[in-house]
Amino acid sequence: EPVKPSNFLRQIIESDLDRGTHAGLHWGGAPGDAAHHAQGSVDPARIRTRFPPEPNGYLHVGHAKSICVNFGLARDYGGTCHLRFDDTNPEKEDQEFVDGIIDAVHWLGFDWKDADGRENLYWASNYFDFMYRAAEYLIEQGLAYVDEQTPEEMRASRGDFTRPGTNSPYRDRAVAENLARFRAMRDGELPDGAAVLRAKIDMASPNINLRDPAIYRIKHAEHHNTGSQWCIYPMYAYAHPIEDALEHITHSICTLEFEDQRPFYDWVLDRLREGGLIAPPQPRQYEFARLNLTYVVTSKRKLKHLVDSGTLTGWDDPRMPTIVGLRRRGFTPEAIRDFCERIGITKDYAWIDYALLEACLRDDLEGRAHRAMVVLDPVKLELTNWAEVFGSAEHLEDCTLPALPHAADGAAAPERRFTLGREVWIEREDFAEVPPKGYKRLFPGNRVRLKGGYVIECTGCEKDAEGHVTRVLASVVPDTKSGTPGADSVKVKAAITWVGAADALQAEVRLYDRLFTDPQPDAGGKDYLALLNPDSLKVVNAYVEPSLAGAQPDDKFQFERFGYFVADRVEHTAQRPVFNRITGLKDSWGK
Ligand code: ATP
Ligand code: MG
Ligand code: MG
Repeated sequence: EPVKPSNFLRQIIESDLDRGTHAGLHWGGAPGDAAHHAQGSVDPARIRTRFPPEPNGYLHVGHAKSICVNFGLARDYGGTCHLRFDDTNPEKEDQEFVDGIIDAVHWLGFDWKDADGRENLYWASNYFDFMYRAAEYLIEQGLAYVDEQTPEEMRASRGDFTRPGTNSPYRDRAVAENLARFRAMRDGELPDGAAVLRAKIDMASPNINLRDPAIYRIKHAEHHNTGSQWCIYPMYAYAHPIEDALEHITHSICTLEFEDQRPFYDWVLDRLREGGLIAPPQPRQYEFARLNLTYVVTSKRKLKHLVDSGTLTGWDDPRMPTIVGLRRRGFTPEAIRDFCERIGITKDYAWIDYALLEACLRDDLEGRAHRAMVVLDPVKLELTNWAEVFGSAEHLEDCTLPALPHAADGAAAPERRFTLGREVWIEREDFAEVPPKGYKRLFPGNRVRLKGGYVIECTGCEKDAEGHVTRVLASVVPDTKSGTPGADSVKVKAAITWVGAADALQAEVRLYDRLFTDPQPDAGGKDYLALLNPDSLKVVNAYVEPSLAGAQPDDKFQFERFGYFVADRVEHTAQRPVFNRITGLKDSWGK
């Protein structure tokens, strides 16, 4: 395997492993259990990362990057990556999204087992008891207080980048009063919004996140896991470092938006370590640049709107940049992992071209997707001298072509078989009654090869009353069959793709294109809905070669001259074949 290029996270991890930063972490019981901080087996210096999605939607290509970073680093350094559902927000959980996230991570090729086979799948809500105890500890230490200002007052006193905040009148409450009020919050005596628990740090800090951030709020809502046990819920910025610490995460890797949160992340853990609530070494947060991919949107809210409004058929519409969408479109986990590897891990804000994702797909499929001929815009071609040359109008010639251009070492090249008869389907654009300059395909008097078959000479066409070509006429040139000694006896300038009328299969082919016409559809206040590509899907009834009769849902092919296609994993059946275009043979966008 090629050596992976280094990056700042790899350097940090390698240095930590060298120095033994994490050696001696005690791992006993499941995190959050009473036994958790008891003596357990000593985890040798292994890294632990985590991927912490909120189960409020399907994962998208940006999450794929985060998955590849977190699970990929754990795998490369013999560590473990936890899958943790961030369910501190009571209202939005949904089993459909939980299942979808589990599926997506597995499909991308990762799991959350550690060296001992332990499944590291966790729920943030399992730590609510611990988080509550930790909050009481902070109150007891004079490090947190219950603020009963209105939300507007709190906002106004927070200040902004240009001026410091001002202290709340509740800031200097006595410990006993704070404890009593916090317990009143917990016991449901206060309505939503009436009070919050705030960390007592510094209202004049230049980092606004340290101006006494809220750590608990009141929300009288059922929680999918804890039911009605709680009516107060921890804020993400407080909950997250605790989750990481309880799971003994070593490197808590997130996107750059959280950079300004890091001082508070450390503040929470430093205070809890001083109080003996968590054991060292502490997890550390590191930030990398999120993925911005051209021609898609990756906001869950906007993706949800595209689904709910019926603009797309669902979260797995092949035009969606969700992992289920990419999968149904025909992208492979290998291609997505390669893409994440190629874009690398940096701290630089950048836009990645969607074409790079397509290039990764082509690189993956080039050597393994079986080739096939299909006709997407069919017109019939009749070989008028067929009976004369072969003795019968019904005669069929057996033809073969390799299914792959290069067979794997030592393996016999797989073959496709099909037949050529008197009538074949060809692309409408492969015939021109009056050829444009430089045209090398069928026009009266010109010869081309039917790929894998015979050389033919065009003799004319038939048209309907409106002048549309209904049938192209040609004669077959005897003794010119591909693979026979006579094949080179007649030189032609073009070989065209075709499918025999006798053994063609009918198929629905969905020609997908980019979802948006603008490379950055939601940047700078643009109206992404106005930038939807009206031609993002064109459905055609195609004829495809008989080798595709055995196609199973999810099988990928290279349709000669048209690109890479997949048998739709939801709707394809042998009776009603459906193929999706994944991408063309090369990047032709805008050309
Ligand atoms: P939202 O806040 O809209 O619900 P989110 O993208 O923050 O969506 P989470 O479920 O919180 O969704 O994300 C899980 C993880 O995926 C987070 O650690 C987040 O940083 C990471 N992530 C999300 N979007 C991207 C992206 N575009 N590139 C890299 N990582 C991402
Ligand atoms: Mg979120
Ligand atoms: Mg988030």
